Amino acid sequence: MKVYKFGGASIKSSAGIRNVKAILGLCQEPLVIVVSALGKTTNALEILLNMYFENDPAVESQLAKIEREHCSLLEELVGPGMDTEILSPLFAEVRQHISGRLKGSYDFCYDQLVSYGELLSTKIVYAYLIKEGVNITWLDARKLISTDSNFREAGVNLEETALRVHSALEGKQGSFLIQGFLGGNIDGYATTLGREGSDYSAAVLANVINAESVTIWKDVSGILNADPKEFKNAVHLPGVSYQEAVELSFFGAQIIHPKTIKPLQNKGITLFVKPFQQPNAAGTIINAEATSGSVPVYVIKHNQVLISIRPKDFSFVLEETLSEVFPILSKNRVKINMVQSSAITISICVDGVKRYIQPAMEELKTKFNVLYNENLELFTIRNYRVDEVEKITSGRKVYMLQKTRRTLRILVDEGSFDGMEL
Ligand code: ASP
Ligand code: MG
Repeated sequence: MKVYKFGGASIKSSAGIRNVKAILGLCQEPLVIVVSALGKTTNALEILLNMYFENDPAVESQLAKIEREHCSLLEELVGPGMDTEILSPLFAEVRQHISGRLKGSYDFCYDQLVSYGELLSTKIVYAYLIKEGVNITWLDARKLISTDSNFREAGVNLEETALRVHSALEGKQGSFLIQGFLGGNIDGYATTLGREGSDYSAAVLANVINAESVTIWKDVSGILNADPKEFKNAVHLPGVSYQEAVELSFFGAQIIHPKTIKPLQNKGITLFVKPFQQPNAAGTIINAEATSGSVPVYVIKHNQVLISIRPKDFSFVLEETLSEVFPILSKNRVKINMVQSSAITISICVDGVKRYIQPAMEELKTKFNVLYNENLELFTIRNYRVDEVEKITSGRKVYMLQKTRRTLRILVDEGSFDGMEL
């Protein structure tokens, strides 16, 4: 079997969903189809959750807006009046949650509420495909993708997931439709796998069914050597190795979710990234044999924070200090992007998520002197040219710079940046 994944952009309109059906029709065999929430629904649900937490009376109108969007899309695809049967039960559950029923930690509540994005989108796509005569089964990822209870970034138990998926697929004909991004913990509560996690869902499913390949359908021609919104003259990469793909997503390229490659590499499953506007285009192929060769690749990570840590008693940065600092960061979910150490200071560049950084800082400050710089940008260039350091750093303050034979990484303050020429 093959796995196809469609992101929010590909299903945000009725034309998009009709195009999904056309793409499915190009494949002769049954598929496992993984779908994200419609368009920007996940963001809208995050806003809904924050309004609920802040007792904002606008919470009801925010939900009404989400409901209208989903109902009118369903109506365009399958005709009027179907929402009562297909969508209303889910919206009734969401209303119950925001009427005060939903209680617990922020991360727990997040997963219980935000998971409705994918439940709703798959109900709509399913209703349309059934109406069009497609032989397809709707599956509930909360019951099949078995995870721990690390809400908002749940870890998948592959063995248990394999057992559940096999028994769900066994003896059934046709294709399967399942939500990306979602899983369920041992108590039956919804969990989510991290923002943009549907790519990872597709990879997990491919791994447990030993799929022939995974295709991620996107609104770009495939993987480019730079984000065209940030760099001029970006070029298409026909092939990328697993290792290059992991590095690029770690460096911050917003192409595929960073966790996607491991389950595929482990089973030698090829990943294609293809444009949904041109389904017959080659796109980009990612596997052990493919490579981008020596084409330079550019990635920028915005909203970076530099934390500089020095032991209060002036002791050297030894393994002991490092082994105290890293667990504090990891426990608080602070994502580390680059590290440098000197005699008495360790400098760490991390994603600027205040909610995670603040408690980590409090803890670090009990033992260390801690300095903090925010609003920084981390540039990574693979296969860099020497003159590129000057291009990036001109007029900016450099906070950290690292060079290896192939990769250049520079942390600078946010400059005015209107598209660097490559
Ligand atoms: N809907 C989720 C998000 O927007 C998951 C995904 O799109 O992959 O983050
Ligand atoms: Mg998405």
